[in-house]
Amino acid sequence: MNPVQDTKAPLLRVVDLVKDFAVKRGRFSQESATVHAVDRVGFEVGVGETLGIVGESGCGKSTTGRCILRLTEPTSGEVWLESTNVTTADPKTLRGLRRQMQIVFQDPFASLNPRMTVGDIVGEALIIHGLEDSPQRRRERVADLLKTVGLNADHMDRYPHEFSGGQRQRVGIARALAVQPRVVVCDESVSALDVSVQAQVINLLQDLQEQYGLTYLFIAHDLSVVEHISDRVAVMYLGRVVEIASARALYASPLHPYTEALLSAVPVPDPKAARKRIMLSGEVPSAMNPPTGCHFHPRCPVRQLPLCANERPELKTVADGHQVACHLRS
Ligand code: SF4
Repeated sequence: MNPVQDTKAPLLRVVDLVKDFAVKRGRFSQESATVHAVDRVGFEVGVGETLGIVGESGCGKSTTGRCILRLTEPTSGEVWLESTNVTTADPKTLRGLRRQMQIVFQDPFASLNPRMTVGDIVGEALIIHGLEDSPQRRRERVADLLKTVGLNADHMDRYPHEFSGGQRQRVGIARALAVQPRVVVCDESVSALDVSVQAQVINLLQDLQEQYGLTYLFIAHDLSVVEHISDRVAVMYLGRVVEIASARALYASPLHPYTEALLSAVPVPDPKAARKRIMLSGEVPSAMNPPTGCHFHPRCPVRQLPLCANERPELKTVADGHQVACHLRS
């Protein structure tokens, strides 16, 4: 599979990434099975670009993000940050790479230590990476970071439970920014927030991107959330990327039947512009036992049998930067 071509210089390159997990077949079973969480995923992200990754729960999008940072070890494939192979990096190189690639998690309750003050949480990253030894200068740097994400420097001595969900997410962003990363993986970072707070955090992320030239991988299950922040969007289904295109092309003319169905469910302000709702039959199949051929074929309203059940559709370029994995659309 060829990673998508982009006009901007690629900063991050993911090539044929695979992650399989061994699991027990049932609670009382000794038999093991393999969950194919990520199945030959490939893409590139340019400097200062935002790639949105969307798909239903369990489609492998978060595992992809974690494999890129090697918070989860990939089974095979490669991740490159410019000319450094992240997947084969030794522990010392990996420490340096971790400084360049940070993550903001979905659940600020779970990702912030409740026993640490916000100042210690944000300052800890500076200590770990040896960026600021002086406690006084560290406090000043933390104060600056808190102001940068729209918090008050006086908040430094408070604990996470004293903040709202949106403020806690800002603390998570400040912690990620502390080490001056180049790539930030936003893993469902706004999914747990109210819609109005989501918009504020997305605006903040966009401002920070402009200010610091950040590159984002923005993971979400909701297409409407990624639309405003993404330059390009990759749609995943059962571990595979099924479509990848510029946000404008994907929202205006989706090519994959799964993307069409997802988009038809996105509410639009003008009822006259609403798409005809495409109802998919059945549930997303288990990644332990995915359907043969095109994973989407049991639910696809336009499948052609036996072709779709027998042959995996590869991701192919059909227009400038627009790739789709469908036998009928490529
Ligand atoms: Fe549907 Fe076949 Fe295309 Fe899969 S390959 S999306 S089953 S038409």
